[in-house]
Amino acid sequence: MADRATDRIRPAVRGIAAYRVAIPPHRIKLNQNESPIELPAALKAEILERLRGIPWARYPEQQETALPAALKASLALPEGIDVITGNGSNELIQALLTAILEPCASIVIPASTFSLYRQFAAILGAKIVAVPLEADLAIDPDRLAAAARDAGAQAIVFARPNNPTGTAIPVDGVERLLARTSSLVIVDEAYVEFAHDSVVDLLGVHDRLIVLRTFSKALRCAGLRIGYMAAAAELVAEVRKVVPPFNTSILDRETAAAIVRNLELLRPGIEATIAERERMVGALDGIDGVAPIPSEANFICFRTDVPPRVVFDRLLERGILVRDVSGYPLLSDFLRVSIGTPEENGAFLAALREIMEDR
Ligand code: PMP
Repeated sequence: MADRATDRIRPAVRGIAAYRVAIPPHRIKLNQNESPIELPAALKAEILERLRGIPWARYPEQQETALPAALKASLALPEGIDVITGNGSNELIQALLTAILEPCASIVIPASTFSLYRQFAAILGAKIVAVPLEADLAIDPDRLAAAARDAGAQAIVFARPNNPTGTAIPVDGVERLLARTSSLVIVDEAYVEFAHDSVVDLLGVHDRLIVLRTFSKALRCAGLRIGYMAAAAELVAEVRKVVPPFNTSILDRETAAAIVRNLELLRPGIEATIAERERMVGALDGIDGVAPIPSEANFICFRTDVPPRVVFDRLLERGILVRDVSGYPLLSDFLRVSIGTPEENGAFLAALREIMEDR
């Protein structure tokens, strides 16, 4: 038998494809749910000025305290809840699942949701219990609970609002999930700033709830890498053992702290994105052959009666990059578009109208 170097790589790793978002040449980028606007120039300048005064040659504080404290205050988290920051929330998802999942342990994941949960769980050799979305693309918390109980699952993980659908399990549904299972319930609130509500207020009530958040979306910092997790202090202490030391840089820390101090400056951008989202849902609804799913995030999942790959390619011919999500379970007729600036959204709508008229 050939003894190749890759034979030493675990089968669970060899058996999966890499997470990769292809970025073909484009003029308008509406495929990764980023903010279309930068941080205010004065805020960037203030952050860079602070960095000038900090030693770069020395390691930062190992267990960061200032930013978690600022986040706890900003979210009004109760005693006993702790916050840990990460190199994007992706890193914390990985650390958390590594801390939880033994090989062959079960985890319940809706199908479809953010694909990295499944990716990391598969690498760990966990048993993935997939719960299909409902016909309206909602996630049914009672079906998640039943699946978790049947499998004796260690954890249940989903995004709220969900990516790529934009729908959110109601808060009382999350409460029911917590009440009806003994699994850890991991709620990824990457898009929460665009949503009607959050589950953070449940943190003081349910010690099995874990909330993940990020600075990559509404807070305009996908190019830096800052995410955080809030949960019972005992859980956070366990996850901290898995996260590499010094996982966030001084740039990440200073930027996040400055943003938390200046959240009010970012609110108009968030409001504008929500207003644009509502305008876009209305406009998409008005295009023959297109049906949008109402969204609580900064993107919209929409069905087309032309194959999504064809719509994707025709948009790209016009310089507009969206996400073809037709490979996801139950989404074979769907694409996803991020909310951009009004001009970008207008260009997208005009192009889509043209494509659908020519079909
Ligand atoms: N969670 C969800 C639901 C996401 O959609 C994304 C980004 N696509 C992330 C987490 C990743 O966030 P970060 O940039 O903080 O790693």
